[in-house]
Amino acid sequence: MKSLYTLQDLQNWREVADDVHPPIRLSVFGDPVAHSLSPQIQNAALKHANIEMQYARFFVRADELREALQFARDWQFLGLNLTIPHKIAAVGLMDSLDEPAKKIGAVNTVRISGAAVEGFNTDGEGFGRAIRDNFAIDLRDLRVLVLGAGGAARAIAFHCALERCERLVIVNRDLKKAKQLVDELRSDFIGPRVLGPVARLEAVPWDESAIRFQLANLDLIVNATPLGLQPRDPSPIAARALAPHLMIFDTVYGTGKTGLVRAAEEAGARAADGRLMLLHQGAAAFEIWFDRSAPLVAMRDALK
Ligand code: NDP
Repeated sequence: MKSLYTLQDLQNWREVADDVHPPIRLSVFGDPVAHSLSPQIQNAALKHANIEMQYARFFVRADELREALQFARDWQFLGLNLTIPHKIAAVGLMDSLDEPAKKIGAVNTVRISGAAVEGFNTDGEGFGRAIRDNFAIDLRDLRVLVLGAGGAARAIAFHCALERCERLVIVNRDLKKAKQLVDELRSDFIGPRVLGPVARLEAVPWDESAIRFQLANLDLIVNATPLGLQPRDPSPIAARALAPHLMIFDTVYGTGKTGLVRAAEEAGARAADGRLMLLHQGAAAFEIWFDRSAPLVAMRDALK
């Protein structure tokens, strides 16, 4: 098996995949995708569960998604993961969507059943399980601030609403997008549950003093922007704007600590990067494809 396939490979799949055993029936489509750890995790799961198939990476550009999906169906792939830049575009290419994918407006998991291509979103579920796994706490009753208003932030925000978190603050560079997300969530946050003079749900500008003003009324801060993907990226929030009582979760992960995790540690706060979110969204995808629980220990070991 190659470490990276392309649309051209799918066009000649019979020849390309002829000598690959077990056969490739699952994959991740993205651009970029070479860094994806999903093959490592899913292949460990497949092996552990004695399922005779493999999971591969495909470099698929934005304008190639429709054709690549068609080939995946023709070649009887069982499922896919979608990453940058396909999650939103895929919504219009699915035959059906699950409730989270519909609400979020993004698909990260595809199940192919015969001719039907079904879209799911496991990012929110993966996030909730990662928070429990990292910090031994449920989202319920937490006061959460999310940085970002893109696909990942939307998945996280809707999941916070589903798990009835106490308070939700959305911070985004483009404040209009944060406000729009808040409007979509409004009906989930009716009722004055929070003590003190703060709103249960609000959009706040990307501004250090505005974020500092929120600190006393927060338990968890989540980075759902790509800041931290590049080793030279600054932390989205400086250590001086954090506090020791906070839990800090960075959806980004890399080979070393992200800037936000370093800033959190400097401030004396508990911190975790996005590895366990990757693990748990992958486990949720496995459960969708195979209708059985995922071999989490084997997947976790593969991630290490
Ligand atoms: P999107 O492109 O949909 O959204 C990006 C968001 O980040 C937008 O809100 C954007 O703000 C903001 N942003 C982008 N660049 C900057 C910057 N330089 N400074 C401040 N804000 C910025 O991406 P996704 O939501 O799909 O993904 C975001 C990140 O989440 C990914 O990079 C990935 O690392 C992580 N992720 C991790 C997962 C995991 O399993 N661990 C799963 C999914 C995502 P604006 O609207 O103003 O442009």
